[in-house]
Amino acid sequence: MKINKRSIVVSVLLSLFTLGIYQLYWYYLLVKSERAIELRKNSFVGELLCLYLVPFYNVYWWFTRGKIVKEKLLSAGQSNVTSNEVLFLVLGIFRLDIVSMAIMQSDFNAISSDAYYKIRKELDDDFTPVEPDPQYILQVNALKKYFPIKGGFFSRTVGNVKAVDGVTFNLKRGTTMGLVGESGCGKTTAGRTILRLSGEKTGGQVLFNGQEVYDLNRKEMRDLRTKMQIIFQDPFSSLSPRLPVSEIIGEAVREHKIVPKEEYNDYIDKVMDNCGLQPFHKDRYPHEFSGGQRQRICIARALALNPEFIVCDEPVSALDVSIQAQIINLLKELQEKYQLTYLFISHDLSVVEHISDTVGVMYLGSLVEYGATEDIFKNPLHPYTKALFSAIPVPDPTAKMNRIVLEGSIPSPANPPAGCKFHTRCANCMERCKHEAPIQREIEPGHYVVCHLYDDVKEESAPVKEKPVTVKEEPAPVNEEPKTDVEEAEGTV
Ligand code: SF4
Repeated sequence: MKINKRSIVVSVLLSLFTLGIYQLYWYYLLVKSERAIELRKNSFVGELLCLYLVPFYNVYWWFTRGKIVKEKLLSAGQSNVTSNEVLFLVLGIFRLDIVSMAIMQSDFNAISSDAYYKIRKELDDDFTPVEPDPQYILQVNALKKYFPIKGGFFSRTVGNVKAVDGVTFNLKRGTTMGLVGESGCGKTTAGRTILRLSGEKTGGQVLFNGQEVYDLNRKEMRDLRTKMQIIFQDPFSSLSPRLPVSEIIGEAVREHKIVPKEEYNDYIDKVMDNCGLQPFHKDRYPHEFSGGQRQRICIARALALNPEFIVCDEPVSALDVSIQAQIINLLKELQEKYQLTYLFISHDLSVVEHISDTVGVMYLGSLVEYGATEDIFKNPLHPYTKALFSAIPVPDPTAKMNRIVLEGSIPSPANPPAGCKFHTRCANCMERCKHEAPIQREIEPGHYVVCHLYDDVKEESAPVKEKPVTVKEEPAPVNEEPKTDVEEAEGTV
């Protein structure tokens, strides 16, 4: 084979041009690929791999072709192979851009999938998948949602805000689970992650009717959206001020073709009637309603899609007490009528006690106690739950309140304490709590707690020896409303 200098120069120029296009295509793949996005989001290694190492790897891959080309020429009977010949042929591979891109893509998938599962495994070292159980409409297993903290010259991930960090619970059809905890503990993020409204999860499982929500493609997810709805805390900001009520409720009904066109108007009337709204409200705008009525519109909007599961994200926190009762009763009525399942997020313990069948208590992104409402309220086990419930005002001016005062401030979810996350504020803290994270244990049937105090409790609920806690005796506030606000309580707990 005769190769002159001119053909090498032309070949180099052509190859550089193709290489440029190829690199652009490569970065397009990186930007578009969900897996690459997740890798970059989840770890520094993933980011490094995707953005910096893989392109180098590809360059390396191309240049190893030289060795193969040389071997092929020798095995074909050529006695002497010059470096010019090898270079020309390798550059020839560069010029086959369509073929090379196809090879490249398969390489990329192979690399990223290995790295992906490796990183996944590192992130989910405490994760054991659960099998779908038909008795539950929703199974949440070790759910994690981290938000990356970016920093440095390359804006790489330098840490994570662990907003939801291993939440596990199951929810039966037609029941309500209350999720309580102080502000910033991750209640809302947990709800949004279950609904797949916060991008990709970081780890764990969310099984809705036995189907992993995060495995669904775009179309399947769109269909599932009608089955899983959300009611937001602030009804005013969650309604478009430019749309009349009929449009707010009906827009998604039309979009998802819930009813035939000819039945549309009657259907909207029926949904509004179910939620306590009158037909003449249809042409009014959100600013013309009171807070309670606006929340009814939000409920009607969710109900219109025939949902099976609704996340109620503090739906009554922005309302006064009398309206709260009306909305709570409405939610209960609708639940009985349509067999709805609720995840009721709130910091108002009285409301949660009233509406919920089961209760989960969250602290710093994790569920510390979970069980039937009666068990949790009558026999709270976790030191944090006890402190929380001790702040419930008693509507009796002569009653003494035993407030458990938690010392220290809430740690940052970006840098949670080692071992038990609550150990920095726990009056019962033991040495092992500082190093060893407790696991969730079933203390009584259906009553789970995450605390080392209960490590020795096996089948039956045995009394637990506790260190004395800091107890403040103070008279119950006389003029306080019969309403428990955890946030308020946390200021004094
Ligand atoms: S594990 Fe230890 S620090 Fe954590 S709540 Fe239980 S006793 Fe307190």
